[in-house]
Amino acid sequence: MDSTVTLALSKGRIFQETLPLLAAAGITPQEDPESSRKLIIGTNRADVRLIVVRATDVPTYVQHGGADLGVAGRDVLVEHGGEGLYQPIDLGIARCRMMVAVPEGYDYAAQVRHGSRIRVATKYVKTAREHFAAKGVHIDLIKLYGSMELAPLVGLADAIVDLVSTGATLKANRLVVVEDIAPISSRLIVNQAALKTKRLLLAPILAAIESAVAAQRAG
Ligand code: ATP
Ligand code: MG
Repeated sequence: MDSTVTLALSKGRIFQETLPLLAAAGITPQEDPESSRKLIIGTNRADVRLIVVRATDVPTYVQHGGADLGVAGRDVLVEHGGEGLYQPIDLGIARCRMMVAVPEGYDYAAQVRHGSRIRVATKYVKTAREHFAAKGVHIDLIKLYGSMELAPLVGLADAIVDLVSTGATLKANRLVVVEDIAPISSRLIVNQAALKTKRLLLAPILAAIESAVAAQRAG
């Protein structure tokens, strides 16, 4: 297996937005994961294949060598911790922001000022813990796996920490942003051992992707 490169991607926006960068590196998938049930997808190159995994599993596959390369959001990388990963290129894709949001009528600033404990629902527990600890705000964390917007509406939480792009989902659920935690985009990640053992195979791919990203940024 040492003469092949495996790239881990998640379906949806990351796959779609990574396609042009792969094309710039001369790599074309043989199937579309949206229509194919295959989890291993060949490419035009006999020595490059893609695997399709959940977005949150990408760093785990790359860390343990199930894949040599991967594309993962900064949100996912923060939660994973980054152990065993080299993160050389910010691809500038799947852009959004990590935010704190509350129901329209909730006076977040006053609660923080009074030193109240705030109940925070999120899938991003590490991000939330670090954000509120840095502000000196005491929180009770409620771990969810999706649809965070619902939690404050049914009294499960006072606030949520979630990704926001257009804000349409927040608006539809009468939530407002009260804090901007960080901008989010996806990075190319590399297994640290593979970077050495497969350097000859990986270096040209990384270089091509890096120049495609630079060109996209410039134009
Ligand atoms: P699923 O939606 O299948 O439960 P997921 O939410 O982990 O899984 P995606 O929605 O494809 O998967 O998100 C993948 C990555 O894209 C996220 O980790 C994040 O970095 C980024 N992302 C998420 N939501 C948005 C958005 N609305 N706009 C832009 N980028 C986003
Ligand atoms: Mg999603």
